[in-house]
Amino acid sequence: MTDFIDALQQTLHGLRLLTNETDRESYRRDETAHHEAGMPLAVALPADTGEVAGVMRLATEHRVPVVPRGAGSGLSGGSAGVDGALTLVLTRMDRILEIDRDNLVAVVQPGVINADLKAAVAAEGLFYAPDPASYEFCSIGGNIGTNAGGLCCVKYGVTRDAVLGLEVVLADGRVIRTGGRNVKDVAGYSLTHLFVGSQGTLGIVTEATVRLRPAPPPKHTMLAFFPTLDAAGSAVAAMTRAGVEPCTLELMDRVTIAAVDDWHKLGLDRTAAALLLVESDAPGSAAEDELARAETCCTDAGATSVVRATDPMEADWLRQVRRMAFRAMERLGVARMEDVGAPRSRIPELLREIERIAAAHNVRCGTFGHAGDGNLHPTFVWDRGDTAAEERAHAACEELYCAAIALGGTVTGEHGIGAARRPFLVAQVGTDAVDVMRAIKAALDPFGILNPGKVV
Ligand SMILES: Cc1cc2nc3c(=O)[nH]c(=O)nc-3n(C[C@H](O)[C@H](O)[C@H](O)COP(=O)(O)OP(=O)(O)OC[C@H]3O[C@@H](n4cnc5c(N)ncnc54)[C@H](O)[C@@H]3O)c2cc1C
Repeated sequence: MTDFIDALQQTLHGLRLLTNETDRESYRRDETAHHEAGMPLAVALPADTGEVAGVMRLATEHRVPVVPRGAGSGLSGGSAGVDGALTLVLTRMDRILEIDRDNLVAVVQPGVINADLKAAVAAEGLFYAPDPASYEFCSIGGNIGTNAGGLCCVKYGVTRDAVLGLEVVLADGRVIRTGGRNVKDVAGYSLTHLFVGSQGTLGIVTEATVRLRPAPPPKHTMLAFFPTLDAAGSAVAAMTRAGVEPCTLELMDRVTIAAVDDWHKLGLDRTAAALLLVESDAPGSAAEDELARAETCCTDAGATSVVRATDPMEADWLRQVRRMAFRAMERLGVARMEDVGAPRSRIPELLREIERIAAAHNVRCGTFGHAGDGNLHPTFVWDRGDTAAEERAHAACEELYCAAIALGGTVTGEHGIGAARRPFLVAQVGTDAVDVMRAIKAALDPFGILNPGKVV
């Protein structure tokens, strides 16, 4: 291992390399609180593609594993350290290289923070759609690594839908380009789509060409409160059935409402079992029409009250409230955020399963998430050090994954298999599909040095 560090220092003179214990410790974990991360051998912060390629050439030569890392906000242990591996942090490669108005694309380095890209393109009247709740601190490289979703995916799709092309450094240090600025491009297999969501196990993204859109009109925002979780789930299913296409359709349950309200004293209706945040950015009067249709679905499902944001600041605040749900739950103890999904017609059943499983295992659980995508984040909480509760939460998660699969859903809608959910990949997709994934991995990374122990 020291040979490898020596080789890095002797070959890549400008490479920022951290080897002392405190630095390595600080890059050890991502936001997956329950995942036991390994200790990086060293941490490298390359400044450009050339340095990334140089690192990978030497890593292949010395057979040293490499963990690509963005901002470390992941919730599946994807960028968590691996004992003896080099953690390769892409945050210094943080330039927006181009905003190409003529083709409605931006070319960015992986370390650009999602919110910074949004702000830069907004200044030109444009819109970069993917908006994970972590958008103020997660990187585009990490978003590509996880195929991140967010609050407006229900209308605009996930990160994969916004990525047109990539520059990728392969395990052996070769640099390839996939896709580009073409809206239509079917030359060969879609490698772009293969790399998006591969969690740093197939290659390292060093540049991305992403799709922009004209900025949508300001949002109209509505909150609906429900007496039962089931009623909220039914309203979501009804909106899908009725073809209502809001740009945000988010859910928070009673526990989450109380956690957020305790923290920020917003005066939310704490007697409600659930709330839905519904937004429309349709042009002109179409937005009010859309919200009116959404309101009908909510009241038909039993909503006890429906309120509209009175101005854009209030609407921003309500969105922010939803984004703070996980942090609010973290104030209650160790929080394990799960990420299950189901076809949208089955959201009421998924919500019922979550309630049943949390009660059966006697664990505290708050559920929130992207209900419009059929993607929910049941978040189990226990007191730090309460190992019995932690084990009950672990058992609840396993049952939850099985329940999601039984509903035709998924064990992870947007956070990724990473290290935390690996045993359940086969259960969801089957051995043959996992074998195909492993064959792809072996073709691109024959020595298994890219993010070992993650995904497959
Ligand atoms: C409060 C909170 C809210 C969140 N809300 C959402 C949400 O709404 N939607 C959502 O999808 N996620 C959400 N997340 C999870 C997380 O923010 C996302 O998964 C995000 O995409 C991770 O980005 P990152 O830059 O932090 O990447 P990291 O966590 O550092 O890495 C994520 C994965 O990508 C890989 N990776 C990173 N950079 C590269 C690269 N350049 N090339 C190849 N692979 C790379 C890593 O190896 C790892 O597997 C949330 C997290 C928190 C803490």
